[in-house]
Amino acid sequence: MASDGSVQRRISLRKKVNLRSYDEGLMNDELYDKKLEDSLKKKSKTPEDLEKETRTESMIAFSLGFPIDALLEQEIRAGVVSELGGKEQNDYLVVRNHILALWRGNVRMWLTKGQIRETVSNEFEHLINSAYEFLLYNGYINFGVSPSFTSQLPEATEGTVVVIGAGLAGLAAARQLLSFGYKVVVLEGRNRPGGRVYTQKMGHEGIFAAMDLGGSVITGIHANPLGVLARQLSIPLHKVRVNCPLYKPNGEPVDKEIDSSIEIVFNKLLDKVMELRQIMGGFKSDTSLGSVLETLKCLYAVAQSTDERQLLDWHLANLEYANAGCLSNLSAAYWDQDDPYEMGGDHCFLAGGNWRLIKGLCEGVPIFYGKTVNTIRYGNEGVEVIAGDQIFQADFALCTVPLGVLKKKAISFEPELPARKLESIERLGFGLLNKVAMVFPHVFWGEDLDTFGCLNENSHERGEFFLFYAYHTVSGGPALIALVAGEAAQTFESTDPSILLHRVLTTLKGIFQPKGITVPDPIQTICTRWGSDPLSYGSYSHVSVQSSGRDYDILAENVGNRLFFAGEATCRQYPATMHGAFMSGLREASCIYQLTRVPQNYPKKSLPKNIGQVNATLVNLFKMPDLEFGRFAFIFDLWSEDPESRGILQITFGGTEEIYKELLYCYPDTTRFPLQLYTIISRGQAHQMQEITGGDENRLSFLTKSLGLKLMGSTALLIDGNSVIATIAGSRKGKRNRSAQRCNPKKSP
Ligand SMILES: Cc1cc2nc3c(=O)[nH]c(=O)nc-3n(C[C@H](O)[C@H](O)[C@H](O)COP(=O)(O)OP(=O)(O)OC[C@H]3O[C@@H](n4cnc5c(N)ncnc54)[C@H](O)[C@@H]3O)c2cc1C
Repeated sequence: MASDGSVQRRISLRKKVNLRSYDEGLMNDELYDKKLEDSLKKKSKTPEDLEKETRTESMIAFSLGFPIDALLEQEIRAGVVSELGGKEQNDYLVVRNHILALWRGNVRMWLTKGQIRETVSNEFEHLINSAYEFLLYNGYINFGVSPSFTSQLPEATEGTVVVIGAGLAGLAAARQLLSFGYKVVVLEGRNRPGGRVYTQKMGHEGIFAAMDLGGSVITGIHANPLGVLARQLSIPLHKVRVNCPLYKPNGEPVDKEIDSSIEIVFNKLLDKVMELRQIMGGFKSDTSLGSVLETLKCLYAVAQSTDERQLLDWHLANLEYANAGCLSNLSAAYWDQDDPYEMGGDHCFLAGGNWRLIKGLCEGVPIFYGKTVNTIRYGNEGVEVIAGDQIFQADFALCTVPLGVLKKKAISFEPELPARKLESIERLGFGLLNKVAMVFPHVFWGEDLDTFGCLNENSHERGEFFLFYAYHTVSGGPALIALVAGEAAQTFESTDPSILLHRVLTTLKGIFQPKGITVPDPIQTICTRWGSDPLSYGSYSHVSVQSSGRDYDILAENVGNRLFFAGEATCRQYPATMHGAFMSGLREASCIYQLTRVPQNYPKKSLPKNIGQVNATLVNLFKMPDLEFGRFAFIFDLWSEDPESRGILQITFGGTEEIYKELLYCYPDTTRFPLQLYTIISRGQAHQMQEITGGDENRLSFLTKSLGLKLMGSTALLIDGNSVIATIAGSRKGKRNRSAQRCNPKKSP
């Protein structure tokens, strides 16, 4: 069937099923229990049983991207074994694969070393340690959203990170960093999380559907980390069925024979592009895939009749969809550079929409919404992330904003980003895919269909409504999504939605009315405009002319070990996908963790040695504040009446003040209320605050906006305000001694 599998080519059209054995969709916890039971019975196992089990585990590791019988480069760099290539390495591989298989068997469980020790002999203790640490801190095990993980969160002692963007990359990184012991805050420009994953509830009066207006298909479920999240949250996956009938522009079904012959032509053309590339030793960097395909099309005189041309155009539109870019912009040399890494297995929809993954990932992560970051400053001392009039300081910043936002220079970096990064941002493509989401009173397209396609008259319109996703199986209602790719996606952005709606309904009526099926008016429709969205400026990345896969790596490079980057456009192996974005977040969390392990990499602000003592002094001083109103308490240097002399302000927040949440500097510990925050303030400023009317909210606003003072937690104060605390404590002691002297000048005998 010619159009079979068309939707499966979301990422690559030349899909080879490689020998991967592990299917996330097939794993379940009963299976795991059996496996664990079997493992525990290891002593009674025959050598053949063990051999078989080891082989299965190595296949699982392989499915997860680990080479068979070899270490990852990452593992070599991490020094997981003392000597490469010997017996120790072989033993390590067996232990590592065993750990991976154990966790993938039950991804809801936080796998501990203790559990591994139950099935691995004591003599390999050092290998358990090195494999476990490697897999844990590189995001291969114990990642995700299982409720049992929250109890494993360590105390935050490692450092502080501001993550910019609450999409899949930002959320994955934030959760991972929290689990490694960092203090994290996420700043998100929108008033919702998820970024380019956005499920909108549509419909009314008892007919509702959850519609994915951004990322929708989990492309390849084998070993896909999003499959892990779905299992952890017990969300069913719906395999996208391969049957995808195609219709001509007039609504007639496409003739099956022409359909399959043109699909063959299309695949052959792509094969020829690859052959040519090999023969010529590569294409010039400015050669586009579109121009090579056009030349080959003419050379072989294929698809010459109108029907054939329109069919071939449909396949080209599908290719433009996969790449969110016009073929005339894609690099002939590198457009498919990520093909070798393609996830195997079925493509799936998530029941109820992908927001369910986002919701799970957000739990327990401090996210501040409506915070559009406009400046990121970074240097040896740390970072400052500025959103409007608020400054967030931290040890590290992780920027996960879309490539479109970087291209627009919507964020200014101080100092400017290195030239090579700027050039990669410029070169790499960021294209468009738009959707029309429609909820109808009932399903009229046939219950057994997940997709159908429609050809267009003209080549330049080939991407308009070329593919429909039927969402009734997963959205909870009778819903369709029409895709608009390539050139058509761009004109779509500036076309009146009522015209678009008229056009899409005409297409549907053309297909269904000749079959005697009435197409009802939709209950609700939404047209996306990802290209005009100021927090995205496009849909996803592609390798455009002049660019190459290397640009993804350059985008992923950190700057000065302070400023990090994640997001789909930083993921060379899995760009333009939801799982790629998620994995890039895990990757950067690991990078930050590795850096922090090597202290000279970043001079962390050090705590004074006598921190406990200073803290006790601070607590004592605030038992008797020198000035107090509302929730504000002040202590001052009692020797000085100078309005410039420095004191300390303590503000106490209860657990319910939503309105203050965003002002709590970077790292509100929302679990421990009442929360006390501090700032260093002059006497004069304190008196100015006292004059402010309208309650604490106005005073707080005056403090942060007019006085420009930043609130901080007690640890930061003990570092920055150490000497102020000492001076104030000294002045109190002095006063007390003096008054004591006045009462009792003589030492008692
Ligand atoms: C229409 C469409 C269809 C798609 N279909 C699929 C699909 O079927 N399968 C698939 O795997 N992938 C698909 N994708 C791609 C996938 O959705 C993305 O690759 C992935 O969601 C990107 O995640 P991210 O975290 O890198 O970026 P984002 O999700 O964009 O997250 C970045 C976040 O940063 C925020 N932000 C931006 N600027 C600022 C700023 N200045 N200050 C603060 N916050 C800021 C944004 O609001 C956003 O929340 C699709 C994308 C689109 C648009």
